[in-house]
This record gives sequence, C-alpha cells and structure tokens, in this order.
Amino acid sequence: MFRKNILQKIEEINENMKGIRSSSTDESSLFSDNSSEDHDEGTESHEVEKSFLLMSRESDYLINLEKALQRIDDESYGICEVYKEEDPEKCECPESPLIPEERLLEVPNATKGVFCKEKKKLNLL
Ligand SMILES: [Zn+2]
Repeated sequence: MFRKNILQKIEEINENMKGIRSSSTDESSLFSDNSSEDHDEGTESHEVEKSFLLMSRESDYLINLEKALQRIDDESYGICEVYKEEDPEKCECPESPLIPEERLLEVPNATKGVFCKEKKKLNLL
C-alpha cells in the first residue's frame, strides 16, 4: 500500500518536472528571437530562477521518496527516526515507534512521527 502510494507520488513529480521544464523552454524560445531594446532580461532570468528553484525542490522530494522506498525494502519504513536512531525513550509519538498510517500516506517521505518532528523543531531533542 505504501509502496504504491510512493510510486504514485514519484510519477506525479516526474510529470510536474516535465511541465516545469517545457514551460521554461517555451519561455526562452519566446525571448530568443526578440532583439528589441525593451526586452526585460531581469524578468526572464527571474522566471528561470523560479522554475529552477521549483525543480530542485521537487528533485529533493524525489530523492526523499526514493529513500522511503529503500526503507520499505529494509523494513524500517514508518518507524520514527528518533526511536530508531537516537534514543527510544525520547520518542513520545502516540503510536511509538510507529508513524501513524495516515501521516505516511499524506507525507510518504516522513521519517519521524509528528511529536518528534515538532520537538526537533523546538530543539527539545
Ligand atoms: Zn517519535
């Protein structure tokens, strides 16, 4: 079930990246034969930067999803990282050490339960 969910997300991202890529090519071809004086290079590079940023964020997510698939393979998927890699006693996740299913379906690349994640954010761990 989780594997299918992750594979679906990976496919979605690949589609998105294709979209980003083709839309940025469209833009540059639009501008390429435009030699007029008032051609605004600032806007164009800003757009390229934006799609580049978006793309690197998507590919980060992709990498995390692939790691999640690996965790399914070695059967550590869905176990809170804090419990697994730090101190089992520190993990106060309600279903410790398991990350709740609904969270995993929503955030398939989650490595920690919400409790541990929030505590990390507050530097309590
Ligand atoms: Zn935890």
